[in-house]
Amino acid sequence: MADTPAERFARVSAQIAEAARASERDPESITTIVVTKFHPASLVRQLADAGVTDVGENRHQEAQAKHAELSDVPLTWHFVGQLQSNKAKAVAQYCSVIHSLDRPSLTKALAQSERELDVFLEINLTDVPGRGGVEPSELSALAEGVLGTSNLSLRGVMAVAPVGEDPRSAFDRVLEYRENVLRLAPGATKLSLGMSGDFVEAISRGATHLRIGSAITGKRPDPTYP
Ligand SMILES: *Cc1c(COP(=O)(O)O)cnc(C)c1O
Repeated sequence: MADTPAERFARVSAQIAEAARASERDPESITTIVVTKFHPASLVRQLADAGVTDVGENRHQEAQAKHAELSDVPLTWHFVGQLQSNKAKAVAQYCSVIHSLDRPSLTKALAQSERELDVFLEINLTDVPGRGGVEPSELSALAEGVLGTSNLSLRGVMAVAPVGEDPRSAFDRVLEYRENVLRLAPGATKLSLGMSGDFVEAISRGATHLRIGSAITGKRPDPTYP
């Protein structure tokens, strides 16, 4: 493919606007987070020049290094991957949004950072425990824990559609589960749903935060080569 990341960003943005209109939604109500994991800081800089405002990362060391290299670039950094509690404080230094809050011990660690953070509760939609994400039955308790902190703002829920399930039915399940969150926190209405392969379906189900990687960045470099 000869197209550039900027061209791909423009194309995907047009597809997002089109999908929003098809669902009678305001495209402005949707935040596109470009997931830049495994790609170098130079690519993130190119994307920022093309108008990208939000980037997502899933590994602390890589993200921290890129953030340091791009301190002159105004970007909002989102953490979208599994987060170890012992890295929470460090991640809170450069990320302002955490999409992968999935257990009480992580709530505690993030609260100890004392940084103001927006958080999404990640729901595990697979049958495999420990896949990343809280079990739906434990979602309410997790929400209560976040509401008990002074520095974490509960914005909504996040999920990844399982391989092999129609993303629309997966996202419908998210809407069902999050009723338990809305009962406790009526303002936690945001939905972090949709990746390169299913952002159109996610928009039809009300996604407010899309996490799009390869459709914009291109193929990820092989992670086994640093
Ligand atoms: C990598 C990643 C994405 C982006 O995936 P693409 O299929 O490349 O768009 C979104 N969300 C999470 C949690 C990811 O780890």
